[in-house]
Amino acid sequence: TSPQEVTEAYLNRIESINPKVGAYLQSDSIAVKNRAGEISATDSPMSGMPIAIKDNICNIGSGTTCASRMLENFRSPYDATVIRKLNEAGAVILGKTNLDEFAMGSSTENSALGKTNNPWNLEYVPGGSSGGSAAAVAAGLAPVALGSDTGGSIRQPAAFCGVVGMKPTYGRVSRYGLVAFASSLDQIGPFSRDVYGAAAVLQTIAGHDELDSTSLNEPVPKYLETLDRPLENLRLGFVEEWLGEGVEDSVKESVTKSVDTYRKLGAEIVPIELPHSKYCVATYYIIAPSEASSNLSRYDGVQYGHRAQDYSSLQEMYEKTRTEGFGEEVKRRIMLGCYALSSGYYDAYYLKALKVRRLIQQDYLKAFEKVDLLIGPVTPGPAFKRGELVDDPLQMYMADIFTIGANLAGIPAMSIPCGFTEDGLPLGTQLLGPVLGEETLLRAARMYE
Ligand code: GLN
Repeated sequence: TSPQEVTEAYLNRIESINPKVGAYLQSDSIAVKNRAGEISATDSPMSGMPIAIKDNICNIGSGTTCASRMLENFRSPYDATVIRKLNEAGAVILGKTNLDEFAMGSSTENSALGKTNNPWNLEYVPGGSSGGSAAAVAAGLAPVALGSDTGGSIRQPAAFCGVVGMKPTYGRVSRYGLVAFASSLDQIGPFSRDVYGAAAVLQTIAGHDELDSTSLNEPVPKYLETLDRPLENLRLGFVEEWLGEGVEDSVKESVTKSVDTYRKLGAEIVPIELPHSKYCVATYYIIAPSEASSNLSRYDGVQYGHRAQDYSSLQEMYEKTRTEGFGEEVKRRIMLGCYALSSGYYDAYYLKALKVRRLIQQDYLKAFEKVDLLIGPVTPGPAFKRGELVDDPLQMYMADIFTIGANLAGIPAMSIPCGFTEDGLPLGTQLLGPVLGEETLLRAARMYE
């Protein structure tokens, strides 16, 4: 089959199924077909491969909305580095997927521009913030997709939708052209149906980029070449308290089962303690909003994006623009961040959070002296019903308890499907690795398939 035929099959499926799932915000079938017709074969594993892109990653071909009224009509004049690399490799971008506004959320319900349903049960959320990308892959509307993960936004929706999702090491993939949420935590990564897909995408998008000063100057391994080589003498760290209070039985059972599977595959299971992991959520919800409040100050109605219609002063223009352009959750984060950064509170909140972040990082460093990878849950429970948590931000924040640590520590982590609840909702297991441990992570995940 040619890239055109494959692309056309996906476009047809998008046309018939996307209205129900709502994974894509934009997909211009004519432009996509033209692109598929133009590509010349490359020796990249992504050659001719269709891919869905989270709509907070800039590309020239379409708008980049971040699912916000603020950027509803924004068109990026440049391509993100990941987009450039995918295009050079011969990939075909199918469209842009829904997300929580500016990637703030865990259910995609914070999108101002569309509703995404969990393909396994349309009354349930797909997770978030990369819910559109996860739903697209789960519903067969794309073989692979890109998301961004600041506190779990790739891994959590991957778990809720029963697909593979990976957050690479901080700096492994260039953030150039990813609309910034919390710059010290943001990282782009792949969604796929199997581990092969994640490896193929990562191999294509990873690598040093002069346009991102935090990008790591390290060679990119050919992950696909070693993928099918099972790991010998794998030491897997298991954190007992991760399966403690507040974690649903379905999650406990499925994670315990995956640990058993690894044991049968020859892995040694080693008990590990991460004494500061109980501070992850609190630390994250100081640092992420602080960085967000600073990053989002650029949406002032002057340079780009939405601008209010009627105003009598510059101050009023700013105020009205931001009042109209941002949704509830984004405003909440900006206010939290401004508070934590303001003089008088900076030391007590932001600086303290930075110190705790270092302790959390050190916990992981120590753990990886003893083991190759860690294994545990992705989320405390499976996907929840639409509307169930929207009015309870604190409860929603708790859903990130197991994913945030990897972002604070800058380490890679992935979610792999590991079964279903009695009600047929997918469940995921999380594997976490040391800095630049993607190859080991992918091989370990592959062994499990
Ligand atoms: N749910 C988390 C938040 O709302 C994580 C978001 C993300 O990773 N982009 O901040």
